[in-house]
Amino acid sequence: MRGLYIHIPFCKTICSYCDFPKRLADSKLFEIYSNRLIEEIKSYKNELKDITSVYIGGGTPNVLPLEILKKIFDEIKPYLDNSIENSIELNPELITDELCHLLNEYKFNRVSLGIQSFDPNSIKLLNRHHNLLDIKNAFNYLRGNNITNINCDMMFGMPKTDLTSLKRDIEYILSFNPTHISYYSLIIEEHTKLCLDIKNKKIEEPDDDLEADMYEYINQELRKNGYKHYEVSNYALDGYESIHNKLYWQEEEYIGVGLGASGFINGYRYLNNLGIDSYLNEFIREKNEISIDEEKKEFMMLGLRMLDGVSIDSYVKRYKIDPTIDFPVISDLVSRGLLIIENNRIKIPEEKIFLGNMVWRCFV
Ligand code: SF4
Repeated sequence: MRGLYIHIPFCKTICSYCDFPKRLADSKLFEIYSNRLIEEIKSYKNELKDITSVYIGGGTPNVLPLEILKKIFDEIKPYLDNSIENSIELNPELITDELCHLLNEYKFNRVSLGIQSFDPNSIKLLNRHHNLLDIKNAFNYLRGNNITNINCDMMFGMPKTDLTSLKRDIEYILSFNPTHISYYSLIIEEHTKLCLDIKNKKIEEPDDDLEADMYEYINQELRKNGYKHYEVSNYALDGYESIHNKLYWQEEEYIGVGLGASGFINGYRYLNNLGIDSYLNEFIREKNEISIDEEKKEFMMLGLRMLDGVSIDSYVKRYKIDPTIDFPVISDLVSRGLLIIENNRIKIPEEKIFLGNMVWRCFV
């Protein structure tokens, strides 16, 4: 398994919580950026063999005009044609029938819709700009163009929300019957507008206990409605787990291109430059060889994000040693009820997954 990730850093407006590599859309840069991106894709020609998934993320890929997107898609067409899953992140209010038609033409078979919330107050607080009609239209355009594998990217634990607003959000999501739901808790990142507003006491900090109750409610409701909770923040109908994202959690290789993108290939991890000028000048900011010991730790830490956990057989096949020998801490975590070993897999019990941090840091 090997993935290709392409980063489009432009956004129409900047969300109040965002610390991703992004910048305000500037049409003067679209051409320059996409040309450089294409050069970077070409530079990985040898590594881009046997790609199993392509993921275009951002930023907001659909702020780019169709002709620029088409140019990028033309460059990656051989990979789109041969991979199993081709995903793109889209902001719902910028989706058009023409865009969905183009996506279908280039064999995109999965779309992740950045919704976060249906609640007008939360949408405003997050500085996002869609409404319910935009989301209805997005689903109609996508499904009308045979793109039926749709993820709703959601968020909970925003200031001024409660269980009632969360219940309403979940009712709305379920009414659209998506194949996949990502539900992340809001993280207040340093240097974001939201963080500043909280520091300046303009907005109250979200409550931890309420957030834990919300997470439990999400798990219960989505499970009740047929969604398998397969990763800390991800839920899918049968057969719709994200192939590309699982590749990260299973320590598989991927090539990341674009501003701020990262990659893991041939035993190296790299991170691209985060500023537009530096990226245009030089793609990679840092590149580090990953030792086997580091890789093993990552394999455990990332694998334990999934509810199915880590396959002991896969570990043994990859590293020629049993993980319980490499990590004596596993038996300690088992005795504390934070890990279980079942069907030859090591995993965190679902009712303890909210304590994941305590487990993951034992493998750092
Ligand atoms: S759309 Fe995504 S990348 Fe852009 S500002 Fe909002 S959260 Fe950040």
